[in-house]
Amino acid sequence: MSADAPAIDGLDEAARARILAKAALFAPPSNVLADGRRDLVGLSREDLAAAMAEIGEQPFRAKQLWHWIYHQGVTDFAAMANIAKPLRAKLAAQFTIGRPEVAADHLSADETRKMLFRFRDHEAVETVYIPDVTEDRGAVCLSSQVGCTLSCRFCHTGTQRLTRNLSAAEIVGQFMAMRDAYGEWPSPKGETPRLLSTIVLMGMGEPLYNYENVAKAMKIVMDGEGIGLSRRRITLSTSGVVPMMDRAGAELGVNLAVSLHAVTDDVRDVIVPLNRKYNIAELIAACRRYPGASNARRITFEYVMLKGINDSEADARRLVELIDGIPAKVNLIPFNPWPGSTYETSSGNAIRRFANIVMDAGYAAPVRTPRGQDILAACGQLKSKVADGAGAA
Ligand code: SAH
Ligand code: SF4
Repeated sequence: MSADAPAIDGLDEAARARILAKAALFAPPSNVLADGRRDLVGLSREDLAAAMAEIGEQPFRAKQLWHWIYHQGVTDFAAMANIAKPLRAKLAAQFTIGRPEVAADHLSADETRKMLFRFRDHEAVETVYIPDVTEDRGAVCLSSQVGCTLSCRFCHTGTQRLTRNLSAAEIVGQFMAMRDAYGEWPSPKGETPRLLSTIVLMGMGEPLYNYENVAKAMKIVMDGEGIGLSRRRITLSTSGVVPMMDRAGAELGVNLAVSLHAVTDDVRDVIVPLNRKYNIAELIAACRRYPGASNARRITFEYVMLKGINDSEADARRLVELIDGIPAKVNLIPFNPWPGSTYETSSGNAIRRFANIVMDAGYAAPVRTPRGQDILAACGQLKSKVADGAGAA
């Protein structure tokens, strides 16, 4: 980040402190089970070494455990062949290697798979695996919160109030449990092809409103001696929490996707209400200073196509003016309906016209094919609670 970036001035620091304080109010439950054992999943390397020190074990044990947990994917201490039996028993008495419980498992006609994962306090989130149609690889779409505070008008998750943030263990745990389902252990090394080859933080919740846990989880998945997914294979999608975008860029350096969805504040104020706090100009400025953005690592602007709301040719022209000079691509997402939604998706013609204007300006503008619609697994269709007061807007 350049030294003169407005992001590091006192005002932004104060805004970040407020966001983190609010996140703490929705903190996940502790990682200690009712029987007193502690879950090792979700601990950083330092935490794991500290946990070993607490039981009088050497730091190298933490390294061994890390390998078993994140490289081999074992959940049973008994499988840890290079650890002597008495120590395995001691570890098993004090610790556990947890996974969320699979509360539901749906397979779409197009092979997209949606899991409902339930945690120890019975809260649940949805996680989606979207296999590539031509190659043996695919994206895992992780949730970061149970519900969302942000109520974007076109989003099903937005109708579910925020219950709480997910812990680092619960975020990594979604990925690990999905991996269990495909038997993809041990973690493939380096460039070896993987079925679960990318992570998109595009499930339920706003990842930048649960920054600390998301960051901890991403550092775990990026660790080369474990799951080893590089930051280039991770995309964080935000609805535009400007002060935290700078921090995520500086600390994690993952790919950034921004849910833009409208090109005037009047429209965005309504469909993405967070715009009233961080408007389009501030959001675009944060994108311009996002570290690491380059032609090789472009920022993705997500743009849900809503009939008659944001899909005119004038909107497309305004969009290319807004992002002028940013290494970017525009992902056009046909609106995915959900029970009770009021919007309609734009016509094929409108989407094509829009895409052409964006492409003529030199930006890639792929139209995202809806995946897993038959099982409500497509973008914006996730929700883990059926009854939630007022219901869908
Ligand atoms: N909270 C984050 C990430 C989760 S949403 C964010 O808003 O960016 C992932 C993407 O799906 C976002 O771009 C979101 O705006 C989009 N989306 C939400 N509801 C949708 C719907 N019904 N149809 C299509 N895309 C939707
Ligand atoms: Fe939350 Fe993202 Fe849905 Fe908006 S689009 S309500 S920020 S999950």
